Amino acid sequence: MTANAYIERVISTLEEKHPDQKEYLQAVHEVYEAITPVLEAHPEYEKQAILERIATPERVISFRVTWQDDEGQVHVNNGYRVQHSSVNGPYKGGIRFDPTVTLSVMKFLAFEQTFKNSLTGLPMGGGKGGADFNPRGRSDAEIMRFCQAYMTELSKYISQDQDVPAGDIGVGHREIGYMYGQYKRLQGVQLGVLTGKPVSVGGSLARTEATGFGIVYFANQILKHNGTDISGKRVIISGTGNVGSFAADKATELGAKVIGISNITGSVIDEDGINMNTIRDIAANHAEDLSKYPETHPNATFAEGSIWAREVQYDVALPCATQNEISGEQAQQIVDNGVEFVIEGANMPSTAEAVQVFRDNDMIFGPAKAANAGGVGVSGLEMSQNSLRLRWTFEEVDERLHGIMEGIFQNIVDTLEEYDLGKDYATAANIYAFKNIAELVRIQGVI
Ligand code: GLU
Repeated sequence: MTANAYIERVISTLEEKHPDQKEYLQAVHEVYEAITPVLEAHPEYEKQAILERIATPERVISFRVTWQDDEGQVHVNNGYRVQHSSVNGPYKGGIRFDPTVTLSVMKFLAFEQTFKNSLTGLPMGGGKGGADFNPRGRSDAEIMRFCQAYMTELSKYISQDQDVPAGDIGVGHREIGYMYGQYKRLQGVQLGVLTGKPVSVGGSLARTEATGFGIVYFANQILKHNGTDISGKRVIISGTGNVGSFAADKATELGAKVIGISNITGSVIDEDGINMNTIRDIAANHAEDLSKYPETHPNATFAEGSIWAREVQYDVALPCATQNEISGEQAQQIVDNGVEFVIEGANMPSTAEAVQVFRDNDMIFGPAKAANAGGVGVSGLEMSQNSLRLRWTFEEVDERLHGIMEGIFQNIVDTLEEYDLGKDYATAANIYAFKNIAELVRIQGVI
């Protein structure tokens, strides 16, 4: 079979087996449509079923999470951990608590994580977990009970050498702290069983900032590769969580002007530059209601809905909210706004239609699995510090983060040249990671 026929056969088999898992199919499709030249150079991969083995998770754990709210009402949620690939080390990837969590979302994230983790150059396999629990509006005691119930089940399947979860949407220091405490109660002390821990219980300095900072380091490398840099650029960011807010801080520090930001309540455009202190105050004290922003910044405008639908001139888009947040139509609006660079901060924020619009318009596009790898990269550094029983300074971790992002970018540039890919950073990232993982699968035999 030709390389393309093999790819099509694998994708159509997955579509037949999992017709409802659209995010998972989208993520696999996006990688596999990029790797034809690698398969052409390795016809033996078909007989070894390399594509099937890389797309299929090693293990999917699905469980019930039962917990009681403050009124005594009992609730049931669906909990998951997808242990996607251990060829590059222990399963590694975050836990997401969000009502949009499904098996398909978990499988897409775990698949992406496997590629992302391989790009960091650190020895980490790929996994992802979560639950369809909505933490919004829940009391601290309810969050603690939920975290404990989730970890009671998950603790049977993870350890610091086997599977190391971290945070993601809806899971920050507080949740990791509660889950770490519950793990310890059940299994004993294992400092490295979770990353993204509060610094006081063995977390790494700069882990909270790492994803957002890393995105901007990576964006700046792409801009430099295109003869410019981020200083003086007009930037729009979606998402006011850890990823978006620290990307905004770093972009501003490097001389960019962040003129817009958004969250689930809507978006704000402020030509004076977004004031992140106000955004953080709104997030903490006003139920994230961004419509409050113009009260203290009268030149700013608030609008409900997606920031990607807004008509405003800018240079760099950093989608840092969630998967499939940019539709095809919104991608066209981004193009019409004169944007030159889209660097993905969230995992798979661009729909397949949006990616096509960006391609058709020669948008310079930084793919999530490379651009947002700084978060898990510093998780890898947290594991190292835990094993060494040491703590590195903020500056030391930040410098290593810089090194990781530079290493990823250099490998992408080398791949662009080797495969004559022009400025197609996404295809280069997929090829580079796929080659690594495929070789690791082959080396470890038929297992
Ligand atoms: N959830 C983050 C991601 O999507 C971080 C995972 C980790 O630190 O293990 O990469």
